[in-house]
Amino acid sequence: MKIERADRLKVLPPYLFAEIDRKKAELAEKGVDIISLGIGDPDLPTPPHIIERLKRASETTVNHQYPTYEGMPAFRQSVADWYGSRFGVDLDPDREIVSLIGSKEGIAHIPLAFINPGEVVLCADPGYPVYRIGTIFAGGEPVNMPLLKENDFLPDLESIPVDILKRARMIFINYPNNPTAASADTDFFQSVVEFATKNEIIVCHDAAYTEVYYDDEPPHSFLEIPGAKEIGVEFHSLSKTYNMTGWRIGFACGNPEVIAGLGSIKANIDSGIFQAVQEAGIEALGSDQKPVADLRKTYQNRRDLACGFLEKMGFAFSLPKATFYLWVSVPEGVGSADFVSRVLSETGVILTPGSGFGESGEGYFRISLTVNDERLTEALTRMSRIDW
Ligand SMILES: *Cc1c(COP(=O)(O)O)cnc(C)c1O
Repeated sequence: MKIERADRLKVLPPYLFAEIDRKKAELAEKGVDIISLGIGDPDLPTPPHIIERLKRASETTVNHQYPTYEGMPAFRQSVADWYGSRFGVDLDPDREIVSLIGSKEGIAHIPLAFINPGEVVLCADPGYPVYRIGTIFAGGEPVNMPLLKENDFLPDLESIPVDILKRARMIFINYPNNPTAASADTDFFQSVVEFATKNEIIVCHDAAYTEVYYDDEPPHSFLEIPGAKEIGVEFHSLSKTYNMTGWRIGFACGNPEVIAGLGSIKANIDSGIFQAVQEAGIEALGSDQKPVADLRKTYQNRRDLACGFLEKMGFAFSLPKATFYLWVSVPEGVGSADFVSRVLSETGVILTPGSGFGESGEGYFRISLTVNDERLTEALTRMSRIDW
């Protein structure tokens, strides 16, 4: 029998990193020392007190049973407390917060709750691929909102055509942004609230990087804006803040009806997060935040180190205020994929081509600051030997 995949898998965009993976395997075979600045996965360990809490919690029998779908009340309470102290945002832990098996899980599932076939979801381009793919899986139509340098990598909401707006039911935004490393101010969030209210569009703000910021300028939550909770939710994650990508814990919070819709999809698909991991999450959010401040310093040093090299090499980029990425223009006349491919062949350094995040990412490459100073220096020294 020929095994046919469903159309929803066939329509996914081609995997743009296949060529890089192939080349990487080839170089590794030859014994080349490969340095990956490609993946957005923190290299440092989860702080020890969080690991200790998991160890203890894993010995409690009740934690071996099915967790509650929406998350332990104590976990949701700790999210509410953290939102209150960090952003000054009031959340009702019973109605306005749902736990997620990593925020990716919630982002992928939310279109299933609200998008009917043919309805439009506005997606940042370049952007985290899950916005588009979750939309496609739900039978919706993703429509790109280009994030352009001349608009500081914010979408131009005014330019969205009226016929698209009529069919649009959801918008995904993400600040601090992956991959462009751009930040948004409250004026932008304010304009999103006005836009979404006027056009009756559900706002999904992906806030994975609010704690990875520089120069003591903490980013804002979208939910700080008056009216935001009427029209939207925020996705948050413990992954980047506490070096917990492998643990799979995050949450969505905001509008109670949107949270309930997402919760209803989840109740029919998964059975929540291992409660010992939720206890570790409570520990992370509720304890001294000094490890997070230390992590920021580490990334800031790496950012400054890498930017120093890139400047000397003559690359064009903006100094990011947040995220652990650098979004850099490729040299004139070179395509993103060709550039990245050539860097890999000649230096063994893996970068991510901007085009992998969407059409408007063409012309850029992304550096992830998730290796130590020594490896970062080595990678950039090798890159500086290439003649462009
Ligand atoms: C890392 C990341 C996430 C999700 O992380 P989880 O580990 O699933 O919580 C979501 N959005 C963006 C933009 C990310 O970079």
